[in-house]
Amino acid sequence: MSSAQPQAGSLHSSPAATFRRKVLDLRSQGRTIVDMTAGDLDFPTPSHVVEAAIAAVRAGDTRYTNVDGTPELKDAVREHFRRQNGLEFERSEIIVSNGSSQAIATAFAVTLKPGDEVIVPSPCWATYYGQARLAGGVPVPVPCAQNNGFKLRPEDLASAITPRTRWIVINNPVNPTGAVYTRAELAELCDVVRPHPEVRVIADNLYEHFVFDGARAVTPLEAAPDLRDRMVTVGGVAKSYSMMGWRIGYAAAPANFVAEMTKVQYVVTSCASSVSQAAATAALTGPQTVLTERLAILQERRDLAVSLVNGCEGLSATSPEGTFYLCISCAGVIGKRTPQGRVLETGEDVSDYLLGAAGIALLPGEGYGLPRYVRMTFAVPTEHIHEAGRLIGQGCAALT
Ligand code: PMP
Repeated sequence: MSSAQPQAGSLHSSPAATFRRKVLDLRSQGRTIVDMTAGDLDFPTPSHVVEAAIAAVRAGDTRYTNVDGTPELKDAVREHFRRQNGLEFERSEIIVSNGSSQAIATAFAVTLKPGDEVIVPSPCWATYYGQARLAGGVPVPVPCAQNNGFKLRPEDLASAITPRTRWIVINNPVNPTGAVYTRAELAELCDVVRPHPEVRVIADNLYEHFVFDGARAVTPLEAAPDLRDRMVTVGGVAKSYSMMGWRIGYAAAPANFVAEMTKVQYVVTSCASSVSQAAATAALTGPQTVLTERLAILQERRDLAVSLVNGCEGLSATSPEGTFYLCISCAGVIGKRTPQGRVLETGEDVSDYLLGAAGIALLPGEGYGLPRYVRMTFAVPTEHIHEAGRLIGQGCAALT
């Protein structure tokens, strides 16, 4: 692990958490706010998972576990990779972490030296930048154009690679754009990585179960099995099973790499919660019907959200292939004037205006590398989506 400290001020708070403070302030003043910012789902954790956690507590399963996870959860993760991706891993190739966030930060920590570069396709979950910086690395955002579906092009990846590049981050599906890379697209990106033995791939599959219209999210290791020694494949139960607060993620990587990650995790947090690990084991080994049932509900909500947003003057959204976020282009309202006389110039302006004037909370896209956009979740009850559509429409109609 690098001994370098990140520069003061180089880390940022979560855009969603920062924004939520504005929402709470307004609510404390008695305002009603429809909050469409959250990165979590309104579905409860499945009841058999909750029961497994309660049973674990009652059985005294409240001690430290192995730092890299219980054998039961590691086996459940292995089964998950077999089922989801057709990939086989040994127990020694799996580490269980406190959320997938920790797995990503740990992978960077074991490899990066000061000045080493981490390529991050942008728009993205900007936490990758902080995770790279925390390990002394330098995040290198590579813009992904809208006319390429916000996906990284092989030629752009090729020109971003330098002798200092150590990682490329592939999030599939992508938060916030909902883009889904196909196997062929991933294979092309891996073709670019292949001749650079110093470059590893970190695959973030957190939204793998949120892929619509019958498609499936492929992970880079499926597309380029020969790069197995250089791939770290990360996942978690947070979004898939509505277990955001249980804090369980995992990574699959070569056994020697997992051993290094385990040393770092040991000094930072030791193991993940024993109770949460029992719950995650139940989630991964229990009935998986919850995934398809909830996906069908989300697909309906997505279609509703897209049609309502596109009915608002000046806003437009294309249907995301994955995740549960809608990226709304504000191009048609930028330059317009609010009833208070303010001219809207950024996604942040639009988000502030709609919050104040219409009581609707949408995250500014700027925090995700998506200027002049706002991000709206559709993992909320249908009536909230209807209400959001109505309020956004009113807010837009009042602009001149
Ligand atoms: N990756 C992506 C793309 C995310 O959006 C998030 C959380 N919003 C995470 C990883 C981290 O999730 P967790 O630590 O809860 O597993």
